[in-house]
Amino acid sequence: MSPLTISMDPRDNVAIVANDGGLPAGTILVDAHAKGLVLKDKVPQGHKVALVDLAAGAAVLRYGIPIGFAAKDILAGAWVHERLLVMPEARGLVDLPMATIKPNPAEALTGYTFLGYRNADGSVGTRNILAITQTVQCVAGVTDFAVQRIKSELLPLYPNVDDVVSLAHTYGCGVAIEAPGAEIPIRTLRNISTNPNFGGEVMVVSLGCEKLQPARLLPPGSIAISDERSKAVAAGTDLGFDNVCLQDDAHVGFMSMIESVMATAKTHLERLNQRRRETVPASELVVGVQCGGSDAFSGVTANPAVGFCTDLLVRAGASVMFSETTEVRDGIAQLTSRAATPEIAEALIREMAWYDAYLKRGSADRSANTTPGNKAGGLSNIVEKAMGSIVKSGSRAISNVIAPGEKLKSKGLTYCATPASDFICGTLQVAAGMNLHVFTTGRGTPYGLAAVPVIKVATRSDLARRWHDLMDINAGTIADGSKTITDVGWEMFHLMLDVASGRKKTWAEHWRLHNALVLFNPAPVT
Ligand code: CA
Repeated sequence: MSPLTISMDPRDNVAIVANDGGLPAGTILVDAHAKGLVLKDKVPQGHKVALVDLAAGAAVLRYGIPIGFAAKDILAGAWVHERLLVMPEARGLVDLPMATIKPNPAEALTGYTFLGYRNADGSVGTRNILAITQTVQCVAGVTDFAVQRIKSELLPLYPNVDDVVSLAHTYGCGVAIEAPGAEIPIRTLRNISTNPNFGGEVMVVSLGCEKLQPARLLPPGSIAISDERSKAVAAGTDLGFDNVCLQDDAHVGFMSMIESVMATAKTHLERLNQRRRETVPASELVVGVQCGGSDAFSGVTANPAVGFCTDLLVRAGASVMFSETTEVRDGIAQLTSRAATPEIAEALIREMAWYDAYLKRGSADRSANTTPGNKAGGLSNIVEKAMGSIVKSGSRAISNVIAPGEKLKSKGLTYCATPASDFICGTLQVAAGMNLHVFTTGRGTPYGLAAVPVIKVATRSDLARRWHDLMDINAGTIADGSKTITDVGWEMFHLMLDVASGRKKTWAEHWRLHNALVLFNPAPVT
C-alpha cells in the first residue's frame, strides 16, 4: 500500500497516517493535502503529521477545530504527538448557540422491517429473555447458582426463550440511599427490569434486611400489574410482582431458596415461551451507540459510518441514543446548535454542567477520560477524542435529552447523558430501553452485554483481521479506500435488522461474552 494520510477538514494543518505499521522517516507523501511532503520522523499508524510548519503557540487543527496548541515549533513532516500539544480550555457553558441549525427535513425511510417481540407496554424486544432482578448484591451468589440450574434444567424445555439473565449489581445496601444522586442507581435498576428484551416479566430476588427494599425498587405504578393482583396491591398485601425473599422464615436450608427461585422462574418461562416474533417496522428499533478502546481511526471510519447509520435510523422513525458526556463535552456548541428547540439545548447544558460539577467534586476534569491506549492509538487528548466520538450522533436534530438512568421519552435522536465508561454507559442505555447496541473500537475490546445484542465495529482492517471472530463489521475498509462511509453505514443498517430479527447473532452473543452491569452511583457509600 502506498503512503496514505487522512485529513478530515480542508482547514486541518495535520493529517493522520493510515498505513498499517505507520510510515518511516523519509517517506514522501502523495495525498493531495500533503503532496511531496517528506516525513521528518517515523509516524505510527493513526498518529498525526504536521502538514505545514507550526510555530510555538499555533493552533493545531483537526476536524477543522483546534485540538491543541503547539508546545514548541513543529516543522512540516514532523510527528505531532501528545507531548507537543497544549490542550485548550473546555468551552464555557454560557453564550452557546441554541437550536440555531435546522437540518433540512430528511426524506422518510420506509419499508424496512424486522421480526421482533411485541410487548404489552408498546415496546418491542429483539430477544426473548427471562431477567432476574435483584435488590442487593448479597443475593447475587444464590441467584447465580439458581440461574445455572435454570439454564441446564428448565431452559431446554422452553425453546422460544433465548436466555436467562441474572441482573446482579453492587448496589442495594451499604449506601447512602437518601443522598442526592442515589436516585440514579435506583431508577437505573428499576428501568433495566422493564427493558423491552425481558418481555414484561418481572421477577425479583431480595434478601430481606437491605436498604433497597423491593417496594422501593419497584413501587406501584412502575411496572404493569395483572388485574388479579391489583386489588391485593391496593390493599398493601401484595407487591404486584413475584419476589423471592431469602430471609423468609419459609426457607429452611439453601436448597429451599434455590427451589423457590426455580419455581418462580418456571411460571415466567412458560409465559415467555408462548411468545412469537412478528414483523414490525424498523421504527421499533431502540439503538444505543457507543465507542470504547478508541484510536485516531474511530473518528475517521467507524464513528462516521455509525453517524450515517444514525441518520438512516432517524429517517426510519426509530429511536437512537448517543451518550458519553466527557466525550461530547468539547463539542457542546455543536450539540446545542443542533438541538431541536432552545429547551432541548438547555437540557444538554444542564447535563454537561451537572457532570462538570461531579468531576470537580472528585478533583478531576474531562481530561481524565483519555487512556494510555487512546494516546498510543494517536488520540492526543480529549478534544481530539471528542471530535471523533461525537460524529456517531449523525447530522439530524437532537430531539430529546434524558438524565442518567431515565427511560427514553420519544423516538428520534436522544442525548442519553451517561459517563463514557463502557460498562456504565451500556448499563444506562439498557435502562433507557435499548434493544440493540452498536459499539465501535479501534484498539479492540471484546465488550458484550447479556441483555441486548452488541454489534461491534472495528475502526481498522488490521484489528478486523486479527479479531475476525469478535468484530461484526470492518469499517477499516473506509481508510483502505475499498468502501465508503455510505457503504459501511448501509451495511450496518441491514445487519441491525438481521440481528434484531434473530436471523444473525453477533460474535459477542456467539461466544456469550457478557460484561457486568455497572451502576452509576454518584452518591456516597457508607
Ligand atoms: Ca465508551
